[in-house]
Amino acid sequence: MNAPVESLLTPLMGWLLSHMLEDSFDGISLCDINHDDKDDERFYKCVKKALTIIRAYDPRRYRRVQQYVQHIVNVDMLSLAQYLNAIHVCELDYGRIVGLGGRSIQLWCTAGAIVHEATHGLAADMGARYVGEGRVGAERLCHREQMAFLRRAPKLVQGRLIYPFNPRLWEYYWSTSRWRQFRDATRHQRELRRGPRL
Ligand SMILES: [Zn+2]
Repeated sequence: MNAPVESLLTPLMGWLLSHMLEDSFDGISLCDINHDDKDDERFYKCVKKALTIIRAYDPRRYRRVQQYVQHIVNVDMLSLAQYLNAIHVCELDYGRIVGLGGRSIQLWCTAGAIVHEATHGLAADMGARYVGEGRVGAERLCHREQMAFLRRAPKLVQGRLIYPFNPRLWEYYWSTSRWRQFRDATRHQRELRRGPRL
């Protein structure tokens, strides 16, 4: 997507989200717009539990979440999570999170992703620009914060969710045009709505 189109769509999305509030936790609104209408309650329950554990285990990072995340949205994406800085939205793909393992893994993965995305808000606030080498620095910082939070998880969970920083994980997003990413994501969403082929 090109910048002018995005600058028009982002406020529109912010307005839509503020009118699509389906649940909330501690002032953070929760909304589900993915292809699966049956997973909404499970998504809200998982996110509320995830926010509860961030608040209980890591109050300092929880304050950051409160400051930089106004909406948490379940949406079908090409990645597990992403942050929309202009409207303070943390997008999660709950379908991908469910695929990672049992309830405990899902819960801590969700919490870690929220901490990561909230740190993007902090990085942007500190003036970090998400271009060139700045992107690597921002992802390194967010990854470090996510992993530092996950060190509070049970050992079994740590073994599954703690991994070294690898900038190659973001290569697709950094080397693919926004328009191409938009088309790929739209195709992915269409396939999910169509369901598995027989
Ligand atoms: Zn990130």
